[in-house]
Amino acid sequence: MPPVTITQAIQHAQSLGLERLDAQLLALHALGRASSERAWLLAHGNDPMPDDAGAQLRAHAVHRAGGVPLAYITGFKEFYGLPLQVDARVLDPRADTETLVDWALERMDAQAPASLIDLGTGSGAIALALKHSRSQWQVHALDYSADALAVAAANAARLGLGVQFHQGSWLQHMPQCFALIVSNPPYIAAQDAHLAALTHEPVQALASGSDGLDDIRSIIRQAPSHLQADGWLLLEHGYYQAGTVRTLLQDAGFASVQSRCDIAGIERCSGGQWLAGADTSI
Ligand code: GLN
Repeated sequence: MPPVTITQAIQHAQSLGLERLDAQLLALHALGRASSERAWLLAHGNDPMPDDAGAQLRAHAVHRAGGVPLAYITGFKEFYGLPLQVDARVLDPRADTETLVDWALERMDAQAPASLIDLGTGSGAIALALKHSRSQWQVHALDYSADALAVAAANAARLGLGVQFHQGSWLQHMPQCFALIVSNPPYIAAQDAHLAALTHEPVQALASGSDGLDDIRSIIRQAPSHLQADGWLLLEHGYYQAGTVRTLLQDAGFASVQSRCDIAGIERCSGGQWLAGADTSI
């Protein structure tokens, strides 16, 4: 049998049901090359695929075809230009969430020092992206899961970004007030059919009660007493939840309530401002 070429090995991975891009990225991973080297793959398509790399690609392709996120297989995901290490202890960071980072950066004075917190930080994606963009900000990140915090803290250390980590249930035991509270909390309804496709990710990072809004309601309830005057609360939510989340924010007394679209044009984040003098007893 003639040796299998790199192109043939990729085609075999595709025949298992993989997208071409995923098959190429897994091939690069098996060959010990960076994900940016797809041009190299094309130029070397007729080279023989080394046996060990071929075996690894076949095994990884089977996992990917079974729904395991690519990031868990390669152990890596780029978020807001930062290389993050991820695994099954944390949600696979989505490009949609970069919308929330953009919005947070716009809401804050770029020059002034400020203190902010990312709730449910998971891999640390949002907190690390904000700290990387604005080194003068004091960035805090919180998660309920000690496993997630270990992943986030390792990312912070590897990237040399000074973020303060806390374990807790939303803001319950946080003494501080912040200029900005940002969160991509769990927001999928417990019975939502989408959950069936996400079985490889931690369910506690995805699902939140019968309508998916339990955690968002808790955060909106707790945020006012942890926001400085005129501070902002910015939340990511599901593709059909913007109207409901805006109503929850308005009912809680937030001002300037508004939503932001993700790269697909879907209202993906909503937020509001807690004005100086607003009544925290609502
Ligand atoms: N956006 C993710 C999804 O629908 C869910 C993330 C979350 O629950 N925070 O796949």
